[in-house]
Amino acid sequence: MTPPRLRAPLERLYREFDYRGRIANDAIQFPRRYPDPADREVVALLAACLAYGRVDLFSREVERVLRVMGPRPAAFILGFDPARDAPRFRGFRYRFNRPGDIAAFCLALQRILRTHGSLRAYFLRGYSPGDAHVGPALERFVAGIVDQDLRPVFPKGRPSRGFLHLFPRPSAGGPCKRLLLFLRWMVRRDHLDFGDWVEVSPAKLLAPIDTHVENMARAVGLTRRRSRNWAMVTELTERFRRLDPGDPVKYDFALCHKRMSGDCPGRRDPVRCRGCGLRPVCRHWQRNGRGPTRTALPR
Ligand code: SF4
Repeated sequence: MTPPRLRAPLERLYREFDYRGRIANDAIQFPRRYPDPADREVVALLAACLAYGRVDLFSREVERVLRVMGPRPAAFILGFDPARDAPRFRGFRYRFNRPGDIAAFCLALQRILRTHGSLRAYFLRGYSPGDAHVGPALERFVAGIVDQDLRPVFPKGRPSRGFLHLFPRPSAGGPCKRLLLFLRWMVRRDHLDFGDWVEVSPAKLLAPIDTHVENMARAVGLTRRRSRNWAMVTELTERFRRLDPGDPVKYDFALCHKRMSGDCPGRRDPVRCRGCGLRPVCRHWQRNGRGPTRTALPR
């Protein structure tokens, strides 16, 4: 059955959203600075891995790491010498992460780039077009990174919790928002996503769900799940897929930033909701306040 009530409002949001006006508030601003795909994928992974918490706070630390890496981050990674270069991250500190986590990130990527040539080639080794989605490939991608020999950074052979926090595994059940965001950037191509990994179909992407996307999904009745986890990711993606089978995560940026920017108050507000194209399907404007009728849900 088609989802007539949701498709038109979400398509309008996707079409009319002010993407350029929000780039400076999104981690994608960092990889966008690099014209060479080799630099872009390395910076994208770094920025996505650190994209938790407040944008202004993690952005400051991403900037700090990029200053150390210089104008060619991929070349920096390939030439990374833990003894020489790790101390240059000394000033880095962000919530769960410390300088050693960034040094381990560089070393793990160096081993992968030396073996496979690029993150793209490495991801493709674990990707099968026959898989229903990128979940299994992402599991292999993460396993290959965290299982690298990182003893030059972690002499006891045990990765730090901060380093592991950068690379959550789908099999752990969490939403893996940051890594799914990275894949969105690399695979999709439109106003702002790069589309460098042409071998991966956008149809196989999974929704990167943060608190803003979750709240917007609830507002339009796309999910009733209580927990933001892998089950929510697959369920929500399936519903987006019924709206656009070839490009299910295309609404992600607009939904996230509509809420993050404060444009959506997350409640019935006659002034701020005026002109919102989602209002006909917004639960805050339903008569009983309990959400859109079930016919609004993609099935
Ligand atoms: S109608 Fe208001 S609360 Fe609902 S999605 Fe739009 S801005 Fe948000």
